[in-house]
Amino acid sequence: MAHTPRKRFGQNFLHDHNIIYNIISSIQAEPGQHWVEIGPGQGALTEPLLNEGVRLDVVELDRDLVVLLREKFKQYPDLNIHSADALRFDFSSLADGGKLRVIGNLPYNISTPLMFHLLDNAYCIEDMHFMLQKEVVDRICAVPGSKKYGRLSVMMQYYCQPELLFEVPPESFDPIPQVMSAIVRLVPHRQPPVAVNDVSKLNRVVTQAFSQRRKTLRNSLKKLITEEEITALGIDPTLRAENISLVEFASLSNLLQEE
Ligand code: SAH
Repeated sequence: MAHTPRKRFGQNFLHDHNIIYNIISSIQAEPGQHWVEIGPGQGALTEPLLNEGVRLDVVELDRDLVVLLREKFKQYPDLNIHSADALRFDFSSLADGGKLRVIGNLPYNISTPLMFHLLDNAYCIEDMHFMLQKEVVDRICAVPGSKKYGRLSVMMQYYCQPELLFEVPPESFDPIPQVMSAIVRLVPHRQPPVAVNDVSKLNRVVTQAFSQRRKTLRNSLKKLITEEEITALGIDPTLRAENISLVEFASLSNLLQEE
C-alpha cells in the first residue's frame, strides 16, 4: 500500500540505506533492551531496530500509517504500536522500573517541544537519538561565546549531554526537505550538572537574557535581578547572554523570587 507523505505531520521518510545502516550501528542496540521510537512512519528505522532483537514501543500520530505498520509488523510480538500524539504521550508509563532508549526521525515542526516533553521524564530515559535539522543540533550543542549559543543550548545542556553524531543530506529523504539534517545523541545527566533550585526560574532567566541578546545582562535582566546582585555573584553585568555559562545562569536563577 502506497502512502502519500503528509506535510502537516512533518513526514519526510528516510530511504537512504547507508544512512539507516549508520544510524543503527551508532546506537548500538542490544537484544532485550527496551526502545521507544517516535514517528516510525513506514518503518524505515523500526524494521532494522526489531532485527536487533529489542523490545520496541512506537508512537505514531498518523492513523493511516498505524494501520500500515500493524499489517507490516504483525509477525513481531516484541513490537507495541501506539496510535497517539507523542507530545501528549506519557512515556514514563512505558518504563516499568527500567530505563528507555529513545530514537526518532522527528517531525521538525515539533522537535523542540517534543524533546522538552521527553526531558520532563528524563529519569526514566537512558539516552535519545534524534534526526533533527542540522541547525537545531548546532544550537543544542553550542558553547558560550558562539553565535548559535542560546536558550536551547543552555536548557538542553542542563538536562543532558548532547553530541552531534553525523550529518544527513536532504536527498536521503522522500520528500526532500529544504534543510540539512543531523543525528544527535542526548544523554540525560544522572545528577544535575549545576545546582538549580527551580528549573522554571532557570528557564525564565535564560529566556529573558536571550530575548534581547545584544543587550548587557544589566539591562536585559533589569526586571528580575539588580546589577548589584549580578556583581555579587562574581558575574560581570556588562556581559551579554551569549557569554554566560550554564553554571552562571544557574546561580542567577537561584536569586529569583517566587512569582
Ligand atoms: N521514522 C520514519 C518517519 C519519519 S517522518 C522515517 O525515518 O522514515 C516523521 C514521522 O512522525 C511521521 O511518520 C509522522 O506521521 C510522525 N509524527 C508527526 N507528528 C507526530 C506526533 N505528534 N506524534 C507522533 N508521531 C508524529
